[in-house]
Amino acid sequence: MALIVHKYGGTSMGSTERIRNVARRVAKWHDAGHQIVVVPSAMSGETNRLIGLAREVMAEPDPRELDMLASTGEQVSVALLAMALKSIGKDAVSYAGWQVPVRTDSSFTKARIESIDDARVRRDLDAGRIVIITGFQGVDADGNITTLGRGGSDTSAVAVAAALKAAECLIYTDVDGVYTTDPRVVSDARRLRTVTFEEMLEMASLGSKVLQIRSVEFAGNYRMPTRVLSSLTDPMIPLEEEARSGTLISFEEDTHMEQATITGIAFNRDEAKITVMQVPDRPGIAYQILGPIADAKIDVDMIVQNQGVDGRTDFTFTVPRNEYNRAMEVLNSSVKAHIGSGNIVGDTKVSKVSVVGVGMRSHVGIASQMFRTLSEEGINMQLISTSEIKISVLIDEKYMELAVRVLHKAFELEKA
Ligand code: ADP
Ligand code: ASP
Ligand code: MG
Repeated sequence: MALIVHKYGGTSMGSTERIRNVARRVAKWHDAGHQIVVVPSAMSGETNRLIGLAREVMAEPDPRELDMLASTGEQVSVALLAMALKSIGKDAVSYAGWQVPVRTDSSFTKARIESIDDARVRRDLDAGRIVIITGFQGVDADGNITTLGRGGSDTSAVAVAAALKAAECLIYTDVDGVYTTDPRVVSDARRLRTVTFEEMLEMASLGSKVLQIRSVEFAGNYRMPTRVLSSLTDPMIPLEEEARSGTLISFEEDTHMEQATITGIAFNRDEAKITVMQVPDRPGIAYQILGPIADAKIDVDMIVQNQGVDGRTDFTFTVPRNEYNRAMEVLNSSVKAHIGSGNIVGDTKVSKVSVVGVGMRSHVGIASQMFRTLSEEGINMQLISTSEIKISVLIDEKYMELAVRVLHKAFELEKA
């Protein structure tokens, strides 16, 4: 008997019919003698619908009230799933985040989990109940409901698994594992049987939305065995078969060292580029530009600054596209006059494409192959950034899918 956490995403919970299938699958695991905690997302489309309603009444919704609203989607899911389980004779109980409680900081809309109390959940499990906990939400020290950012139910699930010292966290979704790239963009993308924790962390942070990045961080920090698998198979397939399916995040660092090329391609459509022109080329300038941006809690990603000519240079960086207007406001209101720069120009039609793989550490020539492949398609690279296990390029958004497809082919990722 083991304690196992299941997470079901929006598509998996997308209709009452699907919720009944989730209940059958969960019951199968419980019947096999396991203690089961389930962390569901809101039904697909629901969180978007709620955010849409908020925007209809307030252009920039108040963050506290937005969390109050957006968290309701998950409350619907947990109650329906508990009822579906009861209707097939299983004892189940649902909890909202504050009832557990899942404690977070107070950064509304992007709160971080600080601790999870396991006492109540353990009592239920010991009494033979299946426990269902809302994904995506928690409660801050003042009792306010918070949410963890889009895709946050993944993080809820892995954090709950870590708090309960579960044997495994199973992330059930609408694809049957982690692929070499998003299978919606490249039809012959290949499912990976395992992916190293480091690679998964890079892929998630570079835009692969199959797992929220913080869920991967939790999995790494607590060494929680985490598997991504399909919720759309027949719920009654043999448990042993299901338990081995999908993609396992592995913590064995050297498993892929012999591999010649890369593991996967990630992309992020929602980038924006900002260039502060003609900044004085002197110590402290980067800080004077990016300090106010950081104070406004805007994440900066790629940064490029060339050596100056005649004491002046251009300073370029990227921010999430939905923060572009705010970033421009900060720069125009407090930075430009202060440092005496030239114009500030921006582009919101850019995307980032990245190749990822721990194999890069031991193989040269990956960058040149990437750049040649893009140049053969006439795709201009506006910015480049690298780390030990990834190379990212910023390109015009209209070439993003083409870039992903030609790189997938060039690195022969469809082949095992
Ligand atoms: P859920 O609602 O279950 O959390 P998400 O939509 O958040 O599901 O994540 C699953 C989706 O992630 C898939 O449908 C797929 O389109 C996308 N995706 C992006 N990159 C990858 C990848 N490398 N492997 C698998 N799926 C990916
Ligand atoms: N329902 C939330 C969202 O749509 C959380 C999640 O699905 O993981 O972002
Ligand atoms: Mg998700």
